[in-house]
Amino acid sequence: MNFSILWQKVLSEIEIQTSKANFQTWLKNSDLRKINEGIAIIAVSSNFAKEWIENKYHKLILKSLRSLIPNIKTIEYIIDTNLTQPVFKEKENNLKDFQLSFPEVKIDFETGLNSRYQFENFIVGPSNELAVAASLAVTENPGIKYNPLFVYGGVGLGKTHLIQATGNTIKNKFKNKKIKYLSSEKFTNEVIEAIRFKNTKSFREKYRNIDVLIIDDIQFISGKETTQMEFFHTFNELYGLNKQIIISSDRPPSALPEIEERLKSRFEGGMIADITKPEFETRVAILHQKMKEKRYFLPEEIVELLAKKIQDNIRNLEGGLNLVVNSLKYQKLLPTKKNVEKILEKIFQPKKTINFKKILNTVSEFYDLNPDQIFSKCRKKELVKPRQIIMYLLKEELGFAYSTIAEKLGNRDHTTVLYACQKISKEIQKNPFFEEEINQIKSRLCK
Ligand code: ADP
Ligand code: MG
Repeated sequence: MNFSILWQKVLSEIEIQTSKANFQTWLKNSDLRKINEGIAIIAVSSNFAKEWIENKYHKLILKSLRSLIPNIKTIEYIIDTNLTQPVFKEKENNLKDFQLSFPEVKIDFETGLNSRYQFENFIVGPSNELAVAASLAVTENPGIKYNPLFVYGGVGLGKTHLIQATGNTIKNKFKNKKIKYLSSEKFTNEVIEAIRFKNTKSFREKYRNIDVLIIDDIQFISGKETTQMEFFHTFNELYGLNKQIIISSDRPPSALPEIEERLKSRFEGGMIADITKPEFETRVAILHQKMKEKRYFLPEEIVELLAKKIQDNIRNLEGGLNLVVNSLKYQKLLPTKKNVEKILEKIFQPKKTINFKKILNTVSEFYDLNPDQIFSKCRKKELVKPRQIIMYLLKEELGFAYSTIAEKLGNRDHTTVLYACQKISKEIQKNPFFEEEINQIKSRLCK
């Protein structure tokens, strides 16, 4: 039998057993190339497709092939980038190369710092140069010059990146200094636990021994009196010992609601630097930086188009870049202005349509699950991962509180949600294939 006809038969059988979106994305552009001594060679378009098919469809394909040709022993998948657009061909055909060159990302257990965030990959422009200068000064002489350093700015403008880069640089320069990075939400949780398990003393001791304390998103301690009290205590101890404190916030100290005055005036006692929205040139430079990291290649006119269209924040700029690259890739389109404009249209209307139900259904469909299974208490691996992804997306895309997510997904414990969100975001940073999977889901959310 002709390979192509044979493969069409297999595909049509698989098509009825899988969701349309999955089929389109992963299988449609595959090809049966040859059968040699019982080994079927199947060509797929990318590493992502290969991983995906091997993990999810291998058994199905094997079964279906065997029903047509009984002596098939196994399948080997090869990557043929001719099945994709030329823009994205580079390097993908060598899995090892791709994985090795992808910067290894780790969150350091002791410091809580992510090595991805460095000054080297932080683009400086008029919107952040004061904050960068102050941060660099802090890395020269931690605890001496600008203490505390208070960095504030809107969502997705680079606060976390900058304060972590500061921590990473200090860690490199001063090997003996103890550095601790955490979000104020995590700090709050630690306070609660310390009280619950009656070990506030060792909690205080732990923080007392830190040389550089970095607290991200301090605004979340608004209204939490006990946490504020504990933080005030820690702050004073460290400050008195000339230890460096770095804080980020979405607004200046004076505008923080429900935060004790004495704490605000402590924040105001050091250096306050803001980060504002980046201007066009900075946005272009940031896009180039991200493309370099992710090995994307887009023509300059497309980069400028992206920088022109997405102005509000850098996280969205990065999201837009990912969306464009992924959409071009999977829809097999050339990177022309017209195609990209069409893709970007989605970005400007998504938030309206994304809601709890949409996230639930999109993720369930993506993993071929019934949404009801998400609410169950079942801890099977096939369910746990999609469930955690849903939790993560509810937090990231809709900004739901952990407790709300816990409640909405079948009255779970909020720490389960916290853990899930952390786990997923760590995995995204660590594993490019997983990041790709999440991007796929996100682009479907916008449809
Ligand atoms: P925030 O903490 O202010 O919400 P993040 O630090 O998380 O923002 O930044 C969002 C994304 O944008 C991150 O991926 C970060 O690396 C990137 N980013 C922000 N500012 C810059 C910059 N100046 N140069 C390079 N990347 C940046
Ligand atoms: Mg942040």
